[in-house]
Amino acid sequence: MPHRMNQNHDRPVFRFAPSPNGRLHLGHALSALENERRAKAAGGRLLLRIEDIDRARCTPALEKGVIEDLRWLGIGFDGPVFRQSEHFADYQNMLQMLIDRKLAYPAFMTRGEVKRLVGESEASGKTWPRDPDGAPLYPDRDRRRSRQERQDLLATGMRHAFRLDMEEALNTLEAPLFWMEETADGIVEVPANPSAWGDIVLSRSDAPSSYHLSVVTDDAAQGITHVVRGMDLYHATAVHRLLQALLGLPAPIYHHHRLMLDEDGRKLSKSNGDTALSELRANGASPAAIRVMCGF
Ligand code: GLU
Repeated sequence: MPHRMNQNHDRPVFRFAPSPNGRLHLGHALSALENERRAKAAGGRLLLRIEDIDRARCTPALEKGVIEDLRWLGIGFDGPVFRQSEHFADYQNMLQMLIDRKLAYPAFMTRGEVKRLVGESEASGKTWPRDPDGAPLYPDRDRRRSRQERQDLLATGMRHAFRLDMEEALNTLEAPLFWMEETADGIVEVPANPSAWGDIVLSRSDAPSSYHLSVVTDDAAQGITHVVRGMDLYHATAVHRLLQALLGLPAPIYHHHRLMLDEDGRKLSKSNGDTALSELRANGASPAAIRVMCGF
């Protein structure tokens, strides 16, 4: 499938897409500010997308906190807030397209079962392949099941996810995959290698979509032309390009920015309480001081 750029030739559209499963910290502020800076420079619009498909961890109270933090920081967003939890039907449609094309299969193994299998294999001296984030690839047991076996298991009502058959998916491509990355030296083509992720998850037994599936669906639905996000998602972009190609969705231009690190050189996480914007604010920091802390 040819690389199709976003056809929206009007104003560039950017988005900041936090998950409200905790309060925002300095890393989020950096990402929101980087989006704001680039959207302004391009004369574009900046949208706010709340990525709340994880209904157990994302709560209305946390979402309120996220919006409050962004308002306090002084980031102006265009248009209404887009909430992923209001778009589950769209993700289901995308998933169904992949199921119909036999590119997605029901995956029955629980996290515990995968862990046990990987542990046993590693204990016997074998190396289990891992994805770019270090997580073990999903075993091929469910992919290899016959149609009848799948139907029988589904008929028992067994809980299951859906996963992409990576090998089959790559077989359908007519040209090598790449994405456009905006760097200090201009826009460059980055070869995408989604196979390193194995059979990625498309929906979970407890959530009707996955991060990868919803992010590509929404970037297309919202007409996003520029995705600006942290380097931690750099390699995941290969998966996003693959899903865009499979689903016939346009490809935004990407920019992956530096991450805020803690004193030990690790990426900030929601458990780093002392870098939470609410905490810094309670201790007297001003929005201008936060901008400085983030290098703006
Ligand atoms: N929701 C993701 C996060 O909070 C960001 C997703 C993205 O920008 O693609 O890390």
